[in-house]
Amino acid sequence: MDHVLKVEDLHAGFGKRGHAQMAIEGVSFQVKKGRVFGLVGESGCGKSTTCRSIIRLFGGAPFVIEQGQILFDGKDLAAMNEQQLTDIRGRKISMIFQDPMTALNPTMRVGDQVGEIVRRNQPALSSGQVREKVVVLLREVGITSPERRYSAWPHELSGGLRQRVLIAMALSCAPELLIADEPTTALDVTIQAQVLRLLHELRARVNMSVLLVTHDLGVVAQHCDDMAVMYAGKIVESGSVAEVFAKPRHPYTRALLNALPAHVDPQHKLQPIPGEPPAAGHFPDGCRFHPRCPFAVERCLREIPENETLTQNHACACHRKEDALW
Ligand code: SF4
Ligand code: MG
Repeated sequence: MDHVLKVEDLHAGFGKRGHAQMAIEGVSFQVKKGRVFGLVGESGCGKSTTCRSIIRLFGGAPFVIEQGQILFDGKDLAAMNEQQLTDIRGRKISMIFQDPMTALNPTMRVGDQVGEIVRRNQPALSSGQVREKVVVLLREVGITSPERRYSAWPHELSGGLRQRVLIAMALSCAPELLIADEPTTALDVTIQAQVLRLLHELRARVNMSVLLVTHDLGVVAQHCDDMAVMYAGKIVESGSVAEVFAKPRHPYTRALLNALPAHVDPQHKLQPIPGEPPAAGHFPDGCRFHPRCPFAVERCLREIPENETLTQNHACACHRKEDALW
């Protein structure tokens, strides 16, 4: 088995079972061992819902999985009860979020917060051993003078340092999978790059896999090995980053690439995507991208395109994926 996570035909949403408003439909992808998988798309496309559904982290919202499997280490997380999931959350799967300030307790010194997580996972350690372990973790995520930072309050740290503290907490259990939902969106560009580089390095050093959620294809290009593009609750294109960037087949992927400065051919004008993505509950019939697609034909209005394999490392859900559209 070369993957740590395999999501299969996941249909999930919010509300009562059987009547839920579906946020994601038919989502399938695999995160391979020791690799970084990027899930990319505009806000509201279902990428956060997808990654939160893996460990069912919805803060009490009425989330339901209507169909599909979430295989982790060969076990189906979608079929587990809350107690079974609690054993996996924060032990085998960790998660970090966009806003590092709200994720930390403002009334507790950062070292003690990391220590609390260490103690939860290794209750037999003495206080001195916990402290040592915290210092090692802080150093591992690139925090200089970790002994001094141990006693800092969250508000005394910059956004970048706070995100590093959260990464240290996420790593304290040596997870097999780290889910990072827009971990750098709230940070400025230079710090963003540092934090992403850190995740990239750690993946190899501590042998974990990363599921990285982002709205930025540039981040995917630089930091991911494999990727999937989401639109209106569905995956429209997926594969190795090298192959998708070299030969994008879905018009939406193509449009996202055109909006990336490095991909803009100086001879041609940048073409913004017209219109807005539809919200859950208002998905159009047929291909959900058709109202915005310059290549739409009659068939696209009524028939939902299936996600089909193009090569071993590449799949796409578009009726015109074999046509030379550009
Ligand atoms: Fe465009 Fe049709 Fe392909 Fe959808 S299926 S992306 S509308 S060409
Ligand atoms: Mg989100």
